[in-house]
Amino acid sequence: MNPENPRMNAIRLVNDRSPIKFEYQEGSSLITDYYGKHTFGLKAMKEKLPKQAYQDIIKTIREGKTLDAKTADVIANAVREWAAEQGVTHFCHWFQPQTGSTAEKHDSFLSFDENQDPIESLTGSQLIQSEPDASSFPSGGMRTTFEARGYTAWDPSSPMFIMESTNSKTLCVPSAFISYHGDALDKKTGLLRSIEALSEKASELLHLIGEKNVKKVVPTLGCEQEYFLVDQAFFGLRPDLVIAGRTLLGEQVIRGQKLEEYYFGSIPPRVQAFMEEVEYELYRVGVPVKTRHNEVAPGQYEMAPIFEEANVAVDHNQLMMAMIKRVSKKHNFTAILHEKPFAGLNGSGKHCNWSLMISGSEGTSQHPNLLEPGKTPSHNMRFLLFLVSVLKGVHQHSGLLRAGISSAGNDHRLGANEAPPAIISVFLGTLLDQILNQIASGNVSTDNPEETFIKLGVGKIPPVIKDNTDRNRTSPFAFTGNKFEFRAVGSSSSPALPVTFLNAAVADGISYVTSLLKEKLDSGQSLEGAGLEVLKQVVSETKAIRFEGNNYSDDWVKEAQKRGLHNLRKTPEALKQIVTAESIKLFKDLNIFSEQEAVSRYSIRLERYIKTVVIEAETILSLVNTVVLPAALEYRSQLIQTSYYASQSSLDCETEKKTVKLIGELTSKLMKENEKLSDSLGKVEQTHDEPKKADMLASEIHESMELVRSVCDKLESVLPDELWPLPKYWEMLFLSK
Ligand code: ADP
Ligand code: MG
Repeated sequence: MNPENPRMNAIRLVNDRSPIKFEYQEGSSLITDYYGKHTFGLKAMKEKLPKQAYQDIIKTIREGKTLDAKTADVIANAVREWAAEQGVTHFCHWFQPQTGSTAEKHDSFLSFDENQDPIESLTGSQLIQSEPDASSFPSGGMRTTFEARGYTAWDPSSPMFIMESTNSKTLCVPSAFISYHGDALDKKTGLLRSIEALSEKASELLHLIGEKNVKKVVPTLGCEQEYFLVDQAFFGLRPDLVIAGRTLLGEQVIRGQKLEEYYFGSIPPRVQAFMEEVEYELYRVGVPVKTRHNEVAPGQYEMAPIFEEANVAVDHNQLMMAMIKRVSKKHNFTAILHEKPFAGLNGSGKHCNWSLMISGSEGTSQHPNLLEPGKTPSHNMRFLLFLVSVLKGVHQHSGLLRAGISSAGNDHRLGANEAPPAIISVFLGTLLDQILNQIASGNVSTDNPEETFIKLGVGKIPPVIKDNTDRNRTSPFAFTGNKFEFRAVGSSSSPALPVTFLNAAVADGISYVTSLLKEKLDSGQSLEGAGLEVLKQVVSETKAIRFEGNNYSDDWVKEAQKRGLHNLRKTPEALKQIVTAESIKLFKDLNIFSEQEAVSRYSIRLERYIKTVVIEAETILSLVNTVVLPAALEYRSQLIQTSYYASQSSLDCETEKKTVKLIGELTSKLMKENEKLSDSLGKVEQTHDEPKKADMLASEIHESMELVRSVCDKLESVLPDELWPLPKYWEMLFLSK
């Protein structure tokens, strides 16, 4: 082997690695000894705030009541004191612009008193509002640069937390990011508005069915985060992983996932050491991580928290992604959050487990889950009304839900035979499916609903439903006993937009169900009779969106087409669903986005798609020219030399000649395909119509890149190991542990 080959050095380095220890700064590894230590949560607030201020902030958190300036000052001072005790010197508004990640601008607590002596301070107005230079964040045309100002506003419903870096600590204030005219420039604002809309609609329906004490309903969310780990030594030698976040070429592993030995297999020690440290850091900032395990592909893992209110869960998922990335480096890994880093292997998703919970109800501290089948017919009526509302929302707005999960990365995953297809449908499980079919079939008598319910099995839907729900891993949106699991969401994306769209769709579904029910009740029908009729109507109307079979099969694609369901395979066509007249009306009716805000979301995502694919194409072009071709030509030259000397000594050199011919053919094919790709890319760059550009990238460029890749992969399979400089799939996947 060639000792100079950096790949070989990397292999040696990786093989010598061992798990890395970290110190529990609290001197204890018990979670309860450090959980939430770095969050200004309820416990810290109760401890640090005067009683009145504490009550005020609780009201703000629970009911969205605005804080007065004086209370804000009191809170700011208390949080600064609390933070200073832990060595915090700076604070920042931590927000989520429409880029791929979070943003922060740090300010120190430094101020001066009347005597010009330095003091540490944080005022209420600093806490509530900050003005970052917003001009470099995408606004999708909502701001011209001369009017670049935007401001961030504290979101008290998500706890403040301390971020630790090598030499200092910073207090992070979760914030929304808004333009001076109040337009949402970020991912949080729309999410918060959708949560409010959903609460309003759900409360209305609950009031109508007699639950008059309900004040607030919140969506709950638990995001299962999948990711890959690749050793840093390998990662650094793969320009495609570094630049594009995924491998653009690479011969697929022979072993692959075929043995299916990885899922829930034992966790490699280096990886486990990494997970332990990520969890420790997450616990300290109050992220309730619960599970860790190996995923389906080699080198793939998953981490999931205990669910929380959606707004907090979204922030915590952002923190989780950031922490996974950061801590991985300490353990000599690079975490890859891309949806499809390795062709031919399982991709990564972010299953968004979602439900609805009554959060504020007078006279009780209970928080019932509205998607939990109950023990009595009346609870089950409530359950079924909410269930069909979800069906209605998803059926009506399936295109929008598809748009919410679209990205260049997720395009490679959706429909790639281990992930849900691009067709949105709902899986309910056999029992519920049967119950709904019977309700819709019309055999149901509404004279004696109680009896009917019992006959249908609806009187007492067995609680085992949760554990017994048949697992349909192929469905993009599956009911799993007391929640829905939106599986089509991609691993790298923020859950904010997919959940905003889901909240909006369901709010609309609930609103529809409420109006049907209200009409019947107004005409004097009993709640049970009216309820049953509404269920029947909505179940029939939404039949097309329900699918219990194998979503990966070709038959389903045909069947879905017959049913008139969308099959939006690529991001450019899916994104258009954000700006259909129907979506814009939905956003406006629910006060989630103005037309301009919706359009800006479309433009930003389209632009991001374009940039991503252009970067990928440029990266593969350059990899071919600087890495693959030189390696192939080197081999060819070696062979030519050997065959020359062999023929000089009248030795047989058939093998050399044949191989020279093969390499010659492959290199000229590669040159040709690469030139074609370069030409097509040139055409894309000359196009100024963005949607058209995106379409070209999704079709011609995509195909052209695949052709280039296939020749590269063929070359990788015939070139001598020592001449191939890029870490191979099997090395990255099987040795990085
Ligand atoms: P499963 O194995 O069915 O996927 P888990 O119990 O492991 O279920 O849950 C997966 C995720 O779903 C976890 O993050 C969990 O907290 C979350 N989850 C459970 N119940 C709810 C709920 N009512 N609302 C939102 N998320 C939930
Ligand atoms: Mg799950």
